[in-house]
Amino acid sequence: MLTFDVAIVGAGIIGLSTAYHLSAAGLKLAIIEKDYLGSGSTLRCIGGIRQQFSTPTSIRVMKDSLTLFQQMEEEFGFPVEFHQGGYLLLAHTPQMVEVFQNNIKIQQAEGVNVTLLSPKEAQEIVPDLNTEGLLAAAYCPDDGQAYPFAVLKGYHQKLQEKKQTFFLHNPVKKIKINGNFRLTLGDGTTLEAKKVLLSAGPWTGELAKLVGLDLPLYPERHEAIVTERLPKFIEPMLVDYRPDGCYFHQLISGHIIGCYTPIPNVPGIRIDSSLGFLQEMGQRMVRLVPPLEKATILRQWAGCYTMTPDGSPIVDESPIKNLYIAAGMSGHGFMFGPGIGKHLAHFIAEEKWDVDFKEFAINRSFKGKESLK
Ligand SMILES: Cc1cc2nc3c(=O)[nH]c(=O)nc-3n(C[C@H](O)[C@H](O)[C@H](O)COP(=O)(O)OP(=O)(O)OC[C@H]3O[C@@H](n4cnc5c(N)ncnc54)[C@H](O)[C@@H]3O)c2cc1C
Repeated sequence: MLTFDVAIVGAGIIGLSTAYHLSAAGLKLAIIEKDYLGSGSTLRCIGGIRQQFSTPTSIRVMKDSLTLFQQMEEEFGFPVEFHQGGYLLLAHTPQMVEVFQNNIKIQQAEGVNVTLLSPKEAQEIVPDLNTEGLLAAAYCPDDGQAYPFAVLKGYHQKLQEKKQTFFLHNPVKKIKINGNFRLTLGDGTTLEAKKVLLSAGPWTGELAKLVGLDLPLYPERHEAIVTERLPKFIEPMLVDYRPDGCYFHQLISGHIIGCYTPIPNVPGIRIDSSLGFLQEMGQRMVRLVPPLEKATILRQWAGCYTMTPDGSPIVDESPIKNLYIAAGMSGHGFMFGPGIGKHLAHFIAEEKWDVDFKEFAINRSFKGKESLK
């Protein structure tokens, strides 16, 4: 029987980042992935990294993540296309201005370099920004972007160097608990682990049901597009919080990549693309930055956000001892990944938190709401 200290189910950013830190702590790992690395949400994301959240835990995780992203090039030995072009959040209603003002107080108290700008100041950062109807903008120049493919490659190589075991294209089908955990994979392999982490993104709810847990996790479809390469003219991620808004940034490659949050949402694990999104997204981008009218869209695709009722993830030990959950990352899992992985690995290895993660506790009330989805 193959035996491991920890079996990690799901090799997206959360599973791999946690594995990387567990591996550094000397644990023997099985990393199990039903398809290829990053095939769930992670390689479908647009690579944005921001510290502008509304709750202290999320802000602190993001400060840690930012530091870890900064260190990746040296750690991995190749660039992960990390670039700090900032995030410019746009408020077109007095209510949104108030939300920004309140959040900025919390963010500044946590040491984030963020300010509220006038429309004119926002336009100084993005000269082509259409400021019609804009009331204010929240700006953090330290936020940025990284390339998800490179980040996952870095974690993967580091785990391979430590001779950790990967089971790829091999889904976990059964989990039996009898002191240790016995996992049966799609090809019939069985393995035993002292501890298990379910980091299966949108599929985490289904997996948790195998062991009788009912988690408040709700996958929904989010579509994205990427344009041809353009000469650099947009530095920060632009986030338009109007109900018919959108968010996009220009990668260091010159491509512009972005999404919008559909209203109503499109529930389920769905990765189909729609013509409606393609047309609508183009119009929303051009409204915000009119010169984009001339840009050619190269490709569109879709992936999942996994939502929780309050918009913050679940990162905790489950009611089943030694079974851990890290899921419900909404649209933030890529940026949260390095920070969550570091602290969760400490929790799994040492059985105590090195930070306060009560906001992400599995037994919380889920009544609040992250205001910056
Ligand atoms: C269009 C779009 C844009 C986004 N933009 C951003 C952004 O700019 N910034 C940001 O931070 N986040 C963004 N996100 C969100 C981000 O992609 C996710 O929050 C993050 O990737 C979640 O990572 P994960 O590791 O939890 O899940 P996943 O990446 O989904 O990984 C889970 C893995 O588990 C595997 N799995 C499932 N079931 C099993 C099983 N039974 N056995 C074995 N393996 C299994 C899956 O195949 C999958 O690879 C975006 C998402 C989308 C869709």
